[in-house]
Amino acid sequence: MSVSDSVNFGVVIHRAFKPLWADDRFLKMYKFESLQQLLGNASLLTLIEPQSHADAVNNYYRLMSGEVAPAVRRSISSDRLGNCFAILTVEHFVEFDGEPALQITIIDISASERRTQKLRDSRSKYRNLILSSHQGIVIHRNFVPLLVNDAYAQLVHAKSAQEVLSWPSLMRIIPEESHAEAFSKYHSVIKGERFGAHSIVETHCVDGSIKMFELYENAVDWDGEPAVLVVYHDITEKHHLQQQLAYQASHDDLTGCLNRQALAAYVMQFQQQALPMSCLMIDIDNFKAVNDNHGHAVGDQVIAKVAATLLEQFSDHGKISRWGGEEFLVVLPNCREAQATELAEQLRHEIEQQLYPSDQGDFSVSLSIGLSTNDRSIPFDFEQQVRLADLQLYVAKHSGKNRVCIHH
Ligand code: GH3
Ligand code: MG
Ligand code: MG
Repeated sequence: MSVSDSVNFGVVIHRAFKPLWADDRFLKMYKFESLQQLLGNASLLTLIEPQSHADAVNNYYRLMSGEVAPAVRRSISSDRLGNCFAILTVEHFVEFDGEPALQITIIDISASERRTQKLRDSRSKYRNLILSSHQGIVIHRNFVPLLVNDAYAQLVHAKSAQEVLSWPSLMRIIPEESHAEAFSKYHSVIKGERFGAHSIVETHCVDGSIKMFELYENAVDWDGEPAVLVVYHDITEKHHLQQQLAYQASHDDLTGCLNRQALAAYVMQFQQQALPMSCLMIDIDNFKAVNDNHGHAVGDQVIAKVAATLLEQFSDHGKISRWGGEEFLVVLPNCREAQATELAEQLRHEIEQQLYPSDQGDFSVSLSIGLSTNDRSIPFDFEQQVRLADLQLYVAKHSGKNRVCIHH
């Protein structure tokens, strides 16, 4: 495609606005069917806005008398049918039939003017869109707020968007421990390294409440300088729900201990590491009798109470899981056999001392415990450790119960 195809321009020659010649592009631009039709047109002034006629005539005579030099001008023109469009005119002296005349090259700039107007419109539309959005939106530069909508002000419990705009920095609602990360994220967004970046952040609202926001950040141009546009999505409820679901997925309802899967996931980090690690396999003795004598609900209470004692005693040392019905597995990283034995004996003693009231008088339960400890020189193998602890539990059960048996 040549330039002449993409740029709409035409050439006309006139003397005192009486048309003398024009090229086909001019004829097409001004909707003349032929050169004859144009030449039959008394004056080119009919193609110029009426309010500019006097200026145009004045300019013509000053040009032809040499008072002013040929120039490029911008004006509004109208075609033969009266459709207006913006043009640039380039003046040039020529000789026509041996007499001086003025050649005008006319460039139709209406398309680019429309584009500029559109851009202006879209900028204000963009601004209005942000201001009226129900989604919290902020534009900031280095955390200095530049544009804030009411939805954002509501999200952070500020009185108004104006109030937020008066803050020297948005950092005031970002927890201090996250400031460095927020700055580094800002700079990578500005540099275009994190296009459409989204993240989840904790925000300390104006009223002191804590919310979780999902942010979408994008670099934007604001008054010719880079800034960051942030869209906020309040996911506080969803976040709490997710935390609750994650808790429920990894914990046992009745006891609050980890479930088997969660414990297995926890120990994965130690797998094949040479470190001392103790495992206690714990089972309540004669538990069937508790259920049979006092009912299932009381049985549940006993399981819950034993679990609470376990959590109290071992939470600082390791993880406690409900391995089965009335069976618990405790893993104690960096805990050697002597310490683990001591802890197990303390637990066993504590449990046998606890009394449960019932119609038939108080009763108590006891624990059998199998202990295995990984030597620090051997890579930790969880399944093997569990097997060994289980074996010792079996030994404890078959040697009178209410005791701790240790794998050596
Ligand atoms: P042992 O000393 O050999 O461990 O005897 P035990 O009666 O405790 O052994 P066993 O494993 O045979 O029985 C455990 C019983 O625990 C069987 C089951 O009905 C009961 N049980 C398992 N889960 C629950 C529970 O969540 N609540 C209640 N109340 N009982 C449970
Ligand atoms: Mg039992
Ligand atoms: Mg059992």
